[in-house]
Amino acid sequence: MKQFRPGKVIQTVKGTPLTIVKYLTEGGQGYIYDIEHEGKHRILKWYKPEKVNKPDKFYQNLNDNARRGSPSDSFLWPITATERTDGSFGYVMELRQDGYHEFTEFLTDCKRIHFNTFKANVEACIRIVSAFQILHHHGYCYQDMNDGNFFINPSSGDVLICDNDNVAPNNKEAFIIGTPRYMAPELVVPAILGPDEEGNERKTKPSTSTDYWSLSVVLFMILCMGHPLEGERWLVPLLTPQNERYLYGSGATFVYDPSDGSNRPNPKVHANVIAFWKPLPPYMKEAFHRAFSKDAIRNPGKRLREIDWLKVLVRFQAEIRRCHNCGGEVFMINAKDTPCDECGKLQRVERKLRFRDYAVTAFKGVRVYRCMLESCNAENALTRVGTIVANPSRPGLYFLNNTDMTLEGRTAKGTVKQIPPNSVVPIKPGITVSAYSGSFTIE
Ligand SMILES: [Zn+2]
Repeated sequence: MKQFRPGKVIQTVKGTPLTIVKYLTEGGQGYIYDIEHEGKHRILKWYKPEKVNKPDKFYQNLNDNARRGSPSDSFLWPITATERTDGSFGYVMELRQDGYHEFTEFLTDCKRIHFNTFKANVEACIRIVSAFQILHHHGYCYQDMNDGNFFINPSSGDVLICDNDNVAPNNKEAFIIGTPRYMAPELVVPAILGPDEEGNERKTKPSTSTDYWSLSVVLFMILCMGHPLEGERWLVPLLTPQNERYLYGSGATFVYDPSDGSNRPNPKVHANVIAFWKPLPPYMKEAFHRAFSKDAIRNPGKRLREIDWLKVLVRFQAEIRRCHNCGGEVFMINAKDTPCDECGKLQRVERKLRFRDYAVTAFKGVRVYRCMLESCNAENALTRVGTIVANPSRPGLYFLNNTDMTLEGRTAKGTVKQIPPNSVVPIKPGITVSAYSGSFTIE
């Protein structure tokens, strides 16, 4: 297609015209332009007409999404569609802020683009799970999750999700099947689900369950910098469509499947995965074992949901601390004294917070979330209960109440103390802090 020239004006559905400033790049589905719209620099994605499946319905869905508005700030959501003109159409979205990189760059150019800390890796995972929880809660499914959809800030772990034009109400309309490496196995090879009640092959389409699969793939890739199904079996001279159907569909096998070692990572080709997997805490490994079990591969109902991921990820985040000697990161699993991998210095646990299922070391910056205290749904999981802080003018560590409720602290002797919002209680052994229907005890 002939590209638009700078200065061209296109009408939007919202009624506010946009002006092309310059052409930026080309993607699989369309062209990207820098534009001026409503007095701001924004982005226009303009579709290649031959790349749009069911254009009338797609256009309708795009307009519906723009009208409903973004479910969360993490999404670069369509602001408005353009009018249909010049044989196609497009949509307007906000410009991405500086400091973010496409996740693909983390995977392909890891010497240049990498997370500054492992804590930022985990933060990115939490943000992605949280964004998808919100999307699913609004009744959408994402459909096309892949490493080109996420822009991540390598210092903070902040995430922006783009390509939201394929987002559609769950189980309603499928415009795209997905990107092969990220697609649920039943979208690659429907036959793996077995025949339906009448003996026919099932029809599969993107849904929340297929999003759950893709979400687990993305989380594994962020934490291990490699693909969960790409082990020895992936080492074929040529990756033909037939090989792909086997690797990501009928023969899908997790590289660390505890009962099937036939697809382990290759030390030469998958060195990243081997290096990152080894130090993961046992509960993270177990979560991946479940997410990619043979059962979860063939049974979409067995996949890990957002709440399952949030529970392990917030724990993991709380267990990563800085070495007091060299500043490297140490995984203090279950609040045990742990030597630093980098300098060998033993990190001693002085105080810990004992939750229902586990304990975490008390140090500055540890966040307590609602899902650490009690069983709750994914919507409430990331409600911040408090943070461990240090007061520069007073020695010691304190628990800061981040809620808007007065929490209750109880000493070992049974004295009850009120902890109003934004106030602190010292990290002293024997104190139990109650919030919602749960509590934790300082040891
Ligand atoms: Zn160290």
